[in-house]
Amino acid sequence: MSLLIEDVAVAYGARQILHGVSLPALPAGSLVALVGPNGAGKSTLLRALAGLERMTGSLHLDGQDVNRLSFAERARRLAYMPQQLPPGIALGVLESIVAALRVAGEDDLLGSAYAALRHLGIEALAERSLDSLSGGQRQLVALAQLLARNPQVLLLDEPTSALDLHYQLRVMGAVRERVVAHGSLAVAVLHDINLAASHADWLVVLRQGRVVACGAPQQVLQPALLAEVYGVQARVERCSQGRLQVLVDRALA
Ligand code: ADP
Ligand code: MG
Repeated sequence: MSLLIEDVAVAYGARQILHGVSLPALPAGSLVALVGPNGAGKSTLLRALAGLERMTGSLHLDGQDVNRLSFAERARRLAYMPQQLPPGIALGVLESIVAALRVAGEDDLLGSAYAALRHLGIEALAERSLDSLSGGQRQLVALAQLLARNPQVLLLDEPTSALDLHYQLRVMGAVRERVVAHGSLAVAVLHDINLAASHADWLVVLRQGRVVACGAPQQVLQPALLAEVYGVQARVERCSQGRLQVLVDRALA
């Protein structure tokens, strides 16, 4: 299984947002982080992949043209988690996951729903109502819904933006474990460059609707690129445990 993105362009009215985004085939079992400054087009690209934006160009999943799948089939195979979650509704947490699974045609609804909550360490929320949760808790439940549906491609828009340190790592770990175990693919917009560096197999850097770099984190993360793309003076170093770290010293004028 692999996802091939070729020449994807999106415009809002007369304003071109994505200018022909092409990437090497993204292989199953990998976690791809989409990074770049505010307004670069990261969310737009994710929504285009999810079929929520009118686009030109082509998307192939396993050699199949994604734009020719029925809406239901596309949503089953590529699942999308938005940056802004809809406000909490008066539905129980477990209930909401069961509902997501029913749409996906899953058999063991309750068992799978509990497993999804346990996987993220939030089984204690099962009986709570969605509208009683904090933003971070709702983000975790939204991810549990998505993991429970077991799609081939997980499209996650800033899945850790509202999470504390523990759950940031837990979520990245759970996504990574899932793609490896099931041979699926995750494409995640990540704001935290260090989280991206430590968890992603590939980094795709977008700027003004164009891909400016793509590859393994240690290839992509260079001070010159960080200066050009983010306008910061930064060092890229290895920590005492050998992990790549971006240390930002100052904003460039
Ligand atoms: P990112 O997620 O990288 O911060 P977005 O993909 O959300 O960026 O936005 C890219 C550009 O498209 C921005 O300039 C934004 O203002 C514009 N944009 C996003 N959504 C819309 C919309 N619905 N209508 C018009 N312009 C939009
Ligand atoms: Mg965004």
